[in-house]
Amino acid sequence: MKYIVLVGDGMADYPLKELKRRTPLEAAGIKNLNYFARAGTLGLIRTTPRGMTPGTDVANLAILGYDPQRYYSGRGPLEALNQGIRYGRQDIIFRCNLVTAANGKLIDYSAGHVTSEEGKELFRALNREIGTGSLKFFPGVSYRNLALLKKPAGLASLLSLRTHPPHDVMGKKFSVIFPKGKGAGMLIGLMERSREILETHPVNARRKRHGKGPANMIWLWGQGTRPEMPSFYRKYGLKGAVISAVDIVKGIGRATGMEIIDVPGATGYFDTDYEGKARYALKALKKNDLVFVHVEAPDEAGHNGDIKAKIKAIEDFDRKVAGTVLKGIGAYGNYKILALTDHPTPISLRTHAPDPVPFAIFKNGDNKRGKAGFNERDAKKSRLFFNKGHKLMEFFLKNTLTPALSPRGRGIR
Ligand SMILES: [Zn+2]
Repeated sequence: MKYIVLVGDGMADYPLKELKRRTPLEAAGIKNLNYFARAGTLGLIRTTPRGMTPGTDVANLAILGYDPQRYYSGRGPLEALNQGIRYGRQDIIFRCNLVTAANGKLIDYSAGHVTSEEGKELFRALNREIGTGSLKFFPGVSYRNLALLKKPAGLASLLSLRTHPPHDVMGKKFSVIFPKGKGAGMLIGLMERSREILETHPVNARRKRHGKGPANMIWLWGQGTRPEMPSFYRKYGLKGAVISAVDIVKGIGRATGMEIIDVPGATGYFDTDYEGKARYALKALKKNDLVFVHVEAPDEAGHNGDIKAKIKAIEDFDRKVAGTVLKGIGAYGNYKILALTDHPTPISLRTHAPDPVPFAIFKNGDNKRGKAGFNERDAKKSRLFFNKGHKLMEFFLKNTLTPALSPRGRGIR
């Protein structure tokens, strides 16, 4: 048996009046996802445990079968694992966005999707000016970078500092959204100092000349220490691989001992090579039992509040990823596909929401003629609900019941 998990990041949404009270999933042409739901099994999964912040990190941990309440230790450390940064148990890793600041406010969480090359130059300057033996910056992909604090004094208070994901606080005043708690002053000091260094940097002079937002500040958040969790193989006895353009998902793959497969042209944005991801996933099944494919684009469209782009990204995910996988996977004989999204990124909120999301499981031979489609409304009406999202993976891997025999009622907790 071969398994493929297809995650369209942030696809779920709320009904929009611009779409006649439909959600983007309901409005989009998603032939393949609907086929999985109709011929296979449709259900609902809570990927963000109550009380936790909805994020790609927490949600994808749950999808892979790891209880986020037990294993989640912050976003920064997971991304650091992916970058191969060596750090000890007493060290803290922060996510360190490059952002655009103006008039005492955070204007853009991505600094206009600053390029990785520009980021590298900017962090070279930061490391030179404010880096020390115990503070180091690591440029990553685009605006997604990291900062390492080695064995800081007051580790516990730094870990419990309240920091804000910059994509959640765009347009707000720094006085409101700067870190709060014991030790916050040190972080605020670094962020303010970074402005002085970055504002006048030649990279930003060039960006401004071209009418682009300057990457004129760092934003520290998502801090944590090294995660400790059992490998995917140890948990399930299956060899797994991860395909994603974003560090956080690859980091989860590393933390769980899965193979990381890099796909040329996978960007994490609208121009990503969707078909390339699907082709690489199919190829990776030769050596692996399970391949986890993550596509970031619908989430970016949600953050941008762009309905058209979101529908397009969902349709691309359906046709180029799900469709290509469905066409090719039959060559392996018996297979199962789990298609889902990690969390809603509603157009109206422009950030993540904790609501449960639809999932569909399709295996070769499934031929049910259901009417329900792959969308929020139909999934809510389905009889299968995983309130503890991390239980879904085991159900996906182990359950061999035909859909008609699936557990009745909302019984799976
Ligand atoms: Zn996500």
